[in-house]
Amino acid sequence: MAKIFTEADSDGSALTGRTVAVLGYGNQGRSQALNLRDSGIRVVVGNRTDRFRDQAEEDGLASMSLAQAAGEGDVVMVLLPDEVHHEVLPTEVFPHLREGAVVVFAHGYSVYFREVDVPAGRDVCLVAPKMIGPAVRTLYLKGMGFPSLVAVDRDTTGRAWDVTLAVAWGIGSLRAGAWKTTFEEETITDLFGEQVGGSGAIVGLLRSFEALIAAGYDPDVVELELLGSGELVEVIRTQVREGIIESLRNHSPTSHFGQLHRAEELLKQPADSRLERILAELRDGTFAALWRRERAAGYPRMRELEARFLAHPFVASEHRNQERLKDVLEGDGSR
Ligand code: NDP
Repeated sequence: MAKIFTEADSDGSALTGRTVAVLGYGNQGRSQALNLRDSGIRVVVGNRTDRFRDQAEEDGLASMSLAQAAGEGDVVMVLLPDEVHHEVLPTEVFPHLREGAVVVFAHGYSVYFREVDVPAGRDVCLVAPKMIGPAVRTLYLKGMGFPSLVAVDRDTTGRAWDVTLAVAWGIGSLRAGAWKTTFEEETITDLFGEQVGGSGAIVGLLRSFEALIAAGYDPDVVELELLGSGELVEVIRTQVREGIIESLRNHSPTSHFGQLHRAEELLKQPADSRLERILAELRDGTFAALWRRERAAGYPRMRELEARFLAHPFVASEHRNQERLKDVLEGDGSR
């Protein structure tokens, strides 16, 4: 069982009198920078000169180029998209790092796949929120936390864990807990969850939709049932709170029985060997190489795939139902 760090393990004092440079002011960058500042830590923001940098200034944070911020930080938090790390860090960040600086990533991707190599003499750490960027801020402001995964890949100073936990404390994560992991485990489980769990949800919805449409049912009624009503949001919320089996008690007895009956039937089918192949392709770097080529080519396959999926009749039904339910969906706070 993973060790879980809480506020009993850090009071943030490892960052007292130190400067944290937050590189990138997007989803995670803005929320984490503001939380650290509100936790009493000196924060500077590194970003190119654009609307993100203007936003940092508007928020009252000192902002500067990536290179300047990298040079100011005792702790340097890399909150730039993973696919640009290998382009930006070796040229704009690494040459400017202080001796003994601690470099903190929010995802293990670029380190695990060896797309970047942090210069010797600097610690390499991970604080990966298991929460989307805006919620990192709103939960902090409510006095609540969010879970994260933490790891240390290189500890040259002997202080890497103290700083890692102080960062997790400063962004508000220790209020909920930080699970100890490794760069490999965080990277692979995160990618597998997205690529199997996330795409599995898309496939399940589209296959169900196609089967019911082929049987002659109205596409908008089917979409409403499968996703559009928003009921699924509540179902998932209760699954998270109560458990995937216990939460079935909130459903009708017919639904409760039907779901268990079908789950058993479907699980009796042989395990899907494609899952093993996907895991292997993640671990051996095949996916990372594909994604790197895709970025270098200007994302042609991503655009093609998005266009193809957007042309699916499910999406047209989805848009009609979203328009009809606009007021309800905007008012329920779930999206
Ligand atoms: P964003 O896409 O929101 O990052 C945008 C920021 O990165 C902007 O400040 C942008 O500034 C800067 N940026 C983008 N491209 C470049 C570039 N080529 N050169 C310099 N700056 C650039 O990223 P996220 O916040 O979503 O992700 C940041 C990290 O957090 C990633 O490692 C991610 O895996 C991790 N993470 C993200 C989560 C999420 O929910 N989003 C959850 C947990 C971890 P500019 O205008 O200059 O381009």
